[in-house]
Parts: sequence; structure tokens; C-alpha cells
Amino acid sequence: EATIEVAGLRKRFGRTVALDGMTFRVPPGRVTGFVGPNGAGKSTTMRVILGLDAPDEGRALVGGVPYRSLEEPLTHVGALLDAGALQPSRTGRDHLLWLAHSQGLGAARVDEVIGLVGLGAEARRRAGGYSLGMRQRLGIAAALLGDPPVLMLDEPFNGLDPDGIVWIRGLLRSLAAEGRAVLVSSHLMSELEGTAGQLVVAGRGRVVADMGVAELIEAA
Ligand code: ADP
Ligand code: ADP
Repeated sequence: EATIEVAGLRKRFGRTVALDGMTFRVPPGRVTGFVGPNGAGKSTTMRVILGLDAPDEGRALVGGVPYRSLEEPLTHVGALLDAGALQPSRTGRDHLLWLAHSQGLGAARVDEVIGLVGLGAEARRRAGGYSLGMRQRLGIAAALLGDPPVLMLDEPFNGLDPDGIVWIRGLLRSLAAEGRAVLVSSHLMSELEGTAGQLVVAGRGRVVADMGVAELIEAA
């Protein structure tokens, strides 16, 4: 089943407590917004889920099992962690073709995800000239390549222009509506407005609120 579950995650970096009992569940079928100020532990949680950081305590499960190693095919979890390094002389499409090849996918799927994220003709320009917004779209396209049932995007709206934000919000809603579990972090609650069906609010390494948006509106 497409779910993410983290329970009792604790993690220190030296004296810094990054995670202090982080616990929540990301169900399929809706976008779960992961909000909180910088330093709240959102990125560390996502890195732990992907097995890039080991927690000191607690567990992280994807589809009911630990997702420990990236040797597992990326087709399980599509992740955007930060707009990674690009080769400036290669096009965005070249980068996607290379990634697709390593996952046994072809050019048809590459052109499909380019369409999904709205990269358009920019995909055939040199990545060296890309704005942060274009790099974000490229990163989201890369996360979508393997058509993963679970998606995890860290601050995907950073650097996007207002049109880009609207576009990506719509894409995330439709990906979730198709039954995927989608976890999207942001330090700005407003960026998730009208997109997240569930809000997990983090502060100082733990969850301070976890609510369904429909339930919240009903209660208000
Ligand atoms: P967020 O994503 O919510 O901004 P992070 O998970 O990036 O929060 O960071 C949580 C805390 O852990 C911060 O105080 C951050 O500086 C610290 N931290 C994260 N990664 C490291 C690291 N590799 N080394 C030292 N401190 C880290
Ligand atoms: P975000 O703002 O998305 O949480 P950060 O800028 O906090 O990302 O972290 C980016 C990278 O730097 C991550 O790999 C994180 O683990 C690392 N990092 C964050 N804070 C520190 C820190 N205080 N010392 C060392 N590395 C850190």
C-alpha cells in the first residue's frame, strides 16, 4: 500500500536535536503538507525515510517496510530533496534521459514527465541557464520518472513563479487523487493552501498538529 509511516524518530547532530519524537502517517489519496519553520526537522525526516540518514531511535516505513537503501529502485519513492547539481552544458531533457536509462525507461516516458511538470521547450535548452524554478520543475520531473506510488518533495515551491506554483499544486493534487501518498514540505503554510488535504505541522523535531483540512474547516 502507498503509505509513509514515521514513529518516534529521534536524531541528534552533535548537540543539535533535529528530531525529537517525530511521528505521523502519510495516507494515499491526498496531499499531506509538512509545514513548519526552518530547522523544524522536515528535511531530516525525509532523509531518514529515504535511508539517507539513520535515526537514533524510531522507525520509518514505506508501504509497511523499512526503506533503508537507495539500491531499492527509485520507482517506489520519487523524491525531490534539493535541486541537485546539473551539468550546465547538457539540456534538462539530457539529464532526464540519463536518469531514465538508469531505471530502464525510455525517451517516451521522459517526454511525458516533461509535459507533466510544464517544462515545455525549456527542456531542450542548456541547464546552465535554468532559473531555480526550472531546476525545481526538472527535479520534480525526475522524481516522477518511475511513476512512484509514493512521492516526497522537499520545498518544491522554492523559486517557482506564481504560474509555476499553480501548475505544480494542480499536478500534486491529481497525482494524489490517483491514489499516491504525497508528502510535500514547506516553511510557508500558504503555499499548500488548496492543495494539502492533510496538514502535519512540525516544530523543534516533533509534530505539533496533525489534521485533515476538511475536518478542520467543518469544525471552524
Ligand atoms: P527543516 O527541513 O525543517 O528546515 P532540518 O531537518 O533541515 O529542518 O534541520 C533540523 C535541525 O537539524 C536544524 O537545526 C539543522 O541545522 C540540523 N541539521 C540538519 N542536518 C544536519 C547535519 N547534517 N549536521 C548538523 N546539523 C544538522
Ligand atoms: P532545508 O532548508 O531544506 O532543511 P538545509 O539547508 O537545512 O535544508 O540542509 C541542507 C543540507 O545541509 C542537508 O544535507 C542537511 O543535512 C545539511 N545541514 C543542515 N544543517 C546543517 C548544519 N548545521 N551543519 C551541517 N550540515 C547541515
